[in-house]
Amino acid sequence: MSMPTRNGLEQMDRMDPLRSFRQEFLVPEGIVYLDGNSLGARPHAARERLLSVLDDQWGNDLVKSWNAHGWYRLPEHTGGSIAALIGAEADEVIVADSTSVNLFKLLIAALRMRPGRSEIVAETGDFPTNLYVAQGVAALLPGISLRIVDKAMLSEAVGPDTAAVMINHVGYRSGEINDMKEISALAHTHGTLIIWDLSHSAGVLPVRLNDCAVDLAVGCGYKYLNGGPGAPAYLYVSKRHQETIEPVITGWMGHVAPFEFDLDYRPAAGIRRNLSGTTPILSLAALDAGLEILIRAGVQSIREKSRRLGDAFILLSQPVMDEFGFSLVSPHDAERRGSQVALSHPDGYAIMQALIARGVVGDFRAPDTLRFGFAPLYNRYIDVWDAVAQLRAVMQNQEWKRPEFNRRQAVT
Ligand SMILES: *Cc1c(COP(=O)(O)O)cnc(C)c1O
Repeated sequence: MSMPTRNGLEQMDRMDPLRSFRQEFLVPEGIVYLDGNSLGARPHAARERLLSVLDDQWGNDLVKSWNAHGWYRLPEHTGGSIAALIGAEADEVIVADSTSVNLFKLLIAALRMRPGRSEIVAETGDFPTNLYVAQGVAALLPGISLRIVDKAMLSEAVGPDTAAVMINHVGYRSGEINDMKEISALAHTHGTLIIWDLSHSAGVLPVRLNDCAVDLAVGCGYKYLNGGPGAPAYLYVSKRHQETIEPVITGWMGHVAPFEFDLDYRPAAGIRRNLSGTTPILSLAALDAGLEILIRAGVQSIREKSRRLGDAFILLSQPVMDEFGFSLVSPHDAERRGSQVALSHPDGYAIMQALIARGVVGDFRAPDTLRFGFAPLYNRYIDVWDAVAQLRAVMQNQEWKRPEFNRRQAVT
């Protein structure tokens, strides 16, 4: 791509095969929203679905809705839609709990599937909740330890004692893609199970769990899947492990026959045994409604636009980076980059606050990273132009020095 012009970007928007999808989301007037990697925008379909679930289903049909409106099967149904985005079969994915809880469940299950092995290997670029959960698992189980290593050290760290490797598909800070095929194969060379976190890749780039022979995976519902704040997460268990995996939170929803009310736990067949308790139906319905849009758009087209958005952002912001002391944290090469561009700057927090005040919403990750996420279904090429123009203005006017931009809020 050559240096974009405003006209050129407008032209790209006119030619964009995904341009009509923006109308399916509520994108507030006057806002350039580049934080779909933290909280996806709200699909209009989610509002309609929620109103119908609230009034017709919960409101009128009440408890009958578990059967009449398919609530009982909704975790599998929605899981099947997610499966289509991540290269899995429909009955290998189920929606449940939060990403953190799913990781806890799968880590312990993985350790049980590899008795005699004592180590979990994780990567320093993993999202902190993943590391915290793994620390909790190691503290809970005698003889189990956690080793956190830089990516470059993975191949040395994994060995005959490693029960599981846990890694993010796209780094939450750098936006760098980790090679799913290569790292899964590395784990398998040692008989180690591989657990991928797809929170920053599902819905925005093609994921090929089955092609890469992945064992287990988790992911988040509220980022590129647009499921809404605190949307339930999902988990994947490969067919080849589904009948041997032993659930850790042996709740009734994962029981073979919850409504027999037996005294003893017996796991359901297939993916359903990985449910714990009842899934939040309102949140699940919103997630389900939004997924249909992603599937209709097609992950391949989304990925192509995402790469161009990122490339345009890097090209346009390079002069601003050079003049004002930013560095590019994300890979320059779109092939190795997910759908975000991260920059670092010592005053990153205040700069992002000043930018948000100008209507460009990205986010900040301590200690110094500004993240700009691109959601190709509702972001336009022209948004990239506007975002960089505002960044330049914030820097030229030194707006970020104002005291109100230097007070930390609870959520950054
Ligand atoms: C967003 C995200 C999570 C979120 O975890 P929750 O428990 O659902 O809040 C987990 N892992 C990664 C890699 C994430 O990006």
